[in-house]
Parts: sequence; C-alpha cells; structure tokens
Amino acid sequence: MAFIPPETLDQIIAANDIVDVIGGYFPLRRAGPLFKALCPFHQERTPSFSVNPRLQIFKCFGCGAGGNVISFVRDYENLDFPEAAKKLAERAGIKLEQGELSPEDAARQTMRRRLLSLHAEVADFFHHQLLRKPAAQIARDYLKGRGIGIDIAKAWTIGYAPDGWDSMREFGRANGYSAEELVASGLVSTRDEQEDAQQGASGWNSRFWDKFRGRVMFPICNDSGQVIAFSGRVLEADAKAAKYVNSPETMLFTKGSVLFGLHKSKRAIIEKSAAIVCEGQLDLITIFEAGVHNVIAPQGTAFTDKQARILRRFVQDGEVILCFDADTAGQKAADRSAAALLMENLVVRVVGMPEGEDPDSLIRGQGAAAFIERVAGARDFFDYQIDTMVRRPEFATPGGRKQAARKLAETISLISDAVLREAVMNNAAGRLEISPQEFVRLLKAPSPRKGSDPAPQADAGPITLDQTVRLLALVALHNTEARTWLLAEPWQELLRNDPETAILAKILAADFHPEDPTSSHALFSTLEPEEEAMVSGLLAEKPRPNAMVVAHASWCELERRKILRRMEAIMASLKNPGLEPEELLSLQEETMSLKERLLGMAAINPTAL
Ligand SMILES: [Zn+2]
Repeated sequence: MAFIPPETLDQIIAANDIVDVIGGYFPLRRAGPLFKALCPFHQERTPSFSVNPRLQIFKCFGCGAGGNVISFVRDYENLDFPEAAKKLAERAGIKLEQGELSPEDAARQTMRRRLLSLHAEVADFFHHQLLRKPAAQIARDYLKGRGIGIDIAKAWTIGYAPDGWDSMREFGRANGYSAEELVASGLVSTRDEQEDAQQGASGWNSRFWDKFRGRVMFPICNDSGQVIAFSGRVLEADAKAAKYVNSPETMLFTKGSVLFGLHKSKRAIIEKSAAIVCEGQLDLITIFEAGVHNVIAPQGTAFTDKQARILRRFVQDGEVILCFDADTAGQKAADRSAAALLMENLVVRVVGMPEGEDPDSLIRGQGAAAFIERVAGARDFFDYQIDTMVRRPEFATPGGRKQAARKLAETISLISDAVLREAVMNNAAGRLEISPQEFVRLLKAPSPRKGSDPAPQADAGPITLDQTVRLLALVALHNTEARTWLLAEPWQELLRNDPETAILAKILAADFHPEDPTSSHALFSTLEPEEEAMVSGLLAEKPRPNAMVVAHASWCELERRKILRRMEAIMASLKNPGLEPEELLSLQEETMSLKERLLGMAAINPTAL
C-alpha cells in the first residue's frame, strides 16, 4: 500500500477543483453559491446533493454522504482512498513520490505496468485482426450469427487470435516485449516451465507458442476497465478443444476474483441497487447492448465467495438476480452461486428461463422486452427452490417433505443477518407446511440421529482443540467436498504462525483422502504424538451431515478472529505518540477496511450448527 504524505494529499485536493471533477461525472446545476444535483449515492426525486466550491466539499442532505474531492472519487468509483488519490494526482499531473520501494517491489511494479500495457496492446492487435484480416472471416461470421455487429465488437474490443503458433512471439518482437514478459502474461504456453527456469531467464530460444489460436477473443477487464486477461471462444465444432479458454493466473489476474463486464456495468448496478448475473460473456454482451446495463458474468460457472464479496460492494442492500440456463447445469450453478451470495446477506432472485433458451437466444428471438419481463418476474431464490422440490414425486411423502425442509434449512442457515434469516424461514416454513419451531430445530440440529453434540473431549488427547478448528478438521478429514473447498481458500495464509490451527494446516497440507492409504501415511508422518491421537479420534467419529455449511461457517469464524486480532494490534499501535502522520493515516485506513470486511462477514456460530 502506497503511503501518500499529507502535504501531497493537500496538493492533490488543491489541484482538483471539486466542481470540475464531479461535473465530469454528471451535470451540476448552479443554485446560488452552491451547485446541486440528484444524489448518486441514494435514490431521490428532488436534488439534495450539493457541492460547495468555496469549501471544496460535497454533502447530501438526504443520505448524509459528504467529503472532499478524494472521498467523492473513492465512493463514486468504489476505489480505496489511495487509489482515488492516485487517480486525481494523475488527473492533475502530480507525481507521487515512491521513496521507500524495495528493489523487488519496484521490479514487481515495473512488471505489472509492462503487463498492463502488453494486454492493452494485444487487445488492440486481436481487435484489428477481427476487423481487417481475411483469415478472421470465420470469426466475423460467427459473431454475426450471434447478432454481434461491428459496433458492438468495437464497444467490447472483441478480437480474433490468429490460428498460428507464433503470433505473440512476432508481436513481442515488433513491439519491444521480452520473452520473459510474454511468459509472465500467460499469452503464451511454454513447453516445460521448469526447464525454462533451469535455463535461467528464458530467452527467445526457449520454446513457447500462442496460448490462444483461432479463437474469438474477449478481453477481461478489472473494474477500472484495464485489460488483465483474455477469454477465447472456440470457433470450429472441434470436440477436442475446450469451448472457452481463459488466461492462466498471472500477476494481473486471479481466477474467481473478476466479474466480467463490471467496469461497464458498475454505475448501473449502484444506481439500481441490483445486479443481473448471467452465465457467459456473449449473454452479457447481448443483455447489455439490449439496454439492460446492470449485468455481470462470473468467469466460470458459479460465483465464488470472493466475487460475491466484490459484488456486495456495488449492490449494497440490494438484490442479485440470477439468470442462468434452464438446464441442470444452469440450476446447479444457480444453487452454488446463491450459497455464496446469501453468505453476503444479499437477496437472491432467480429468473425462470423458457425451456431450451438462454438470455442471448431469448433477446434475439423475442426482443429485449421479453427478457426484461422475465427479469421483473424473477422469483425469490427460496421460493424457486421450494417450487423445484414440490414438483418432485417424493415430496408427497412426509419423509420427502422433511428431507426438503432439511435441505432448505441448510441454505437458510447461510444467511447471517438474523432479521432476514427469520423472514426467509417463516416464509419457507409456511410453504412446506411445517411449524416455524420445527424449522428452527432443523436449522440448529441437523444431525438426524443424535440431538446432542458428539462428545469431543473424551478422545481429544492431552491438548484440547478449539471447537471451531476441531469442526474444520473433522469435515476436512471426512468430507471431500468440504476439503476441496477449504484447499481452494487461502488456508496457508490464514493458518500461518498460529499454533491453535497447526493441526488443521497439517491435515490440509497432506491432502488426505480416507480411502487412500498413502495419503494417510503422509498425514501421520507429519503429526506429533498427541496430534496423532487427536486425528485418530476425529477419524473414528461419524461424518457431519452438513459438512459444507459447517466448513463455510467455521472458516468465516477463523477469518473473523484473525481480523479482530489485527484490529487489536492496530489499536495498540495507535496509542503510540511518536506515530508519523502517514503511518497514522495508513493504520486508520486499514482499520476502516478491516471493519468493512467484518461487516460483510457471515457471523454464524459454527459450534451451534
Ligand atoms: Zn444522498
């Protein structure tokens, strides 16, 4: 995080007139000594948002938003404070000092800049290929068939990757990018990454070739609109090739943390306080170009927790409308996405698509109005889930109904907001014709056999294990889905240097599978004697029935504890009278962002599940 000295902040504020800056986003109307507009931070019909040019501040008397030019840009663009300051510094041509960068950080920053400009130039290169080259006729025909003409292709910088092997190598040579930079960008595949590493800095001699060949290319942007990766769609009906190929993880691109289209749709999402989620890039482009702008697509099939957290920043207390295909895969994606979104306390609705249609085909066949009507008629996620259950024949039996209630209870327990959870629960109980009390019982005691907690202390060995860590260890040992999910989380980072969670880290590091004796051996070879006893005890226990819910909730609890510990440490540092102003600013900012994360976190007590 860059430290910006207070005097530089003053300079940035002085050089950016607040009326000019805000007036660049939307029109301001003069009203005596002030300027007025409809507030961009809340819904209103008469303007209560005012800008004071003399004091260089803004204030909304409707929602209370207010601040200086930097905080406006921060809130309006959903940036953090240093990013907003940097943006305004650039606008005014102020150079930010970068005094204390270590050589490694400086090298990283240079590489990052190089990769960003490489991506921007390659996006233009692919786009040029699509527009001009005879070889791209097949791609132009394909897009035309999907209703994407030249204007739309230009608006989204859609491109075509030539069907060769070395167009990126040629591009790099012609535009001054090194082999090392091309490899780091993920735009080329290497024969053997390890071999290249052994040969030292990979020169032009090492073997690499284009990752994207003969595909329609969609640039993937971060939410400021910079190209950070690509998604390439196959053109020929080739059974062997994957339909979509995405850039690998790079310094710029982390999978599961980018929402396609967000840079274009964020304003509309904030204004409507609602986001429509569709499956793929083409769906998104068709919907957006049909005039429905508050739309995004996850990169992949379902929402990740990270994406849900990002979206929450823009949707706030609004809703997310899932618009997936009507097939089984689409329904599964909807279920998994809903779980991630519910944990962020977002209201989730589901659009019912006609059999065999996706948003793209619906809009092209019946027009945008038909799609908008479908979206308006989207049902609450739980109603949709109940409707699906009710249609199954087994629902007619008492056992089937109880089963359905249990499944629903599992999803409802993901909602951490108590008021919202209760409202959803009452509605669901009514529709399933069971009493709310019965439903509460299902929420709290999902185990059908034993009403009480399994006795942990008896076989816990000499060290007592924290309950939350114990639950996570238990599901990680017994449940493949939960283990896979945990392994995909940044567990090494979260569990590092924490003796309390050491045993869990060992279990995850061993990638233990109960049916595989080698992995069991690998695990036990890393354990201390008392840990051995503990793991054996956990293995002898019955698996938890709702492992994924337990895993989510317990994981959140560990994250919450870590944040709280960090906040305590910051509080202690803030008492230090010798604090430099920039340290103070940075600590205060960190506290703010930690608080924000805490607010957005599900607060379920995992041991009560
Ligand atoms: Zn307002």
